[in-house]
Amino acid sequence: MRLLGRKALVTGAAHGIGLACAQAFAREGAEVALVDLDGEGAIAAADALAAETGRRMIGLACDVSDAKAARAAAAKAAEGLGGTIDVLVNNAGILKPGDILTTTLEDFDAVLAVNIRAVFVIGQAVAQALVAAGKPGSIINMSSINAVLAIPGQVPYVTSKGAVNQLTKTMALGLAAHGVRVNAIGPGTIATDILKGVMTDEAAKRGVLARTPLKRFGEPEEIGRVAVFLASDDSSYMTGQTIYPDGGRLA
Ligand code: NAD
Repeated sequence: MRLLGRKALVTGAAHGIGLACAQAFAREGAEVALVDLDGEGAIAAADALAAETGRRMIGLACDVSDAKAARAAAAKAAEGLGGTIDVLVNNAGILKPGDILTTTLEDFDAVLAVNIRAVFVIGQAVAQALVAAGKPGSIINMSSINAVLAIPGQVPYVTSKGAVNQLTKTMALGLAAHGVRVNAIGPGTIATDILKGVMTDEAAKRGVLARTPLKRFGEPEEIGRVAVFLASDDSSYMTGQTIYPDGGRLA
């Protein structure tokens, strides 16, 4: 029970990696607020975790790209769990395919609004509340192996994830003196819905597997376990880092 007594907020928590993080936190003793564009999914997942663990969980509908709504969701999460959020996972993320010659401004802005702007908005709101309360905390931003590698047909996504790594470092520097740690996770290819936008055919899958020494895609639970490590005191001397659970990806 490495997170007993902690209050966690996970965005994009109705499906995939976010859901796996919320489940892992709940099973380590945390009370969790699950926030998602799919409000029904978030509420259903929260109810299931509350029934399983006997602890308080809440599900909230929110489009994190709407700054006002995102700040309100962070406040509601804290109020619903009855205290300050100690652990935040900025996980919600989207893809919109497009190379440098074809990507529209609308698609570029839409991806950045979810993948980086919301990370700033919610990260700032949670950090301000922690500092005001004089409490330590752990903020985890979901990056990607494509923060350091790149895919030519995913210009907005690759750009946003590079920015997540740098935002993580600058937040870590600004919050270290307050006892708030900030780290990122940069997954390789994980078997979730978002993959459908990239792995459109068997050749694409074979291409990624050929560049993955462990010769398989990762499971969301394998990212959830890294999130528990970063959320807990097991990583007490780590801040400003990105951990890459990527099967050893070379390119
Ligand atoms: P997913 O599509 O399975 O889940 C994403 C979740 O985010 C969904 O529940 C969706 O409803 C929610 N969401 C989307 N837009 C939102 C918005 N505007 N407001 C609130 N919620 C929103 O994707 P996933 O694979 O679980 O990805 C989660 C994170 O992990 C993303 O940041 C993604 O970039 C990152 N990631 C995924 C992979 C992978 O291979 N799956 C690899 C590297 C990084």
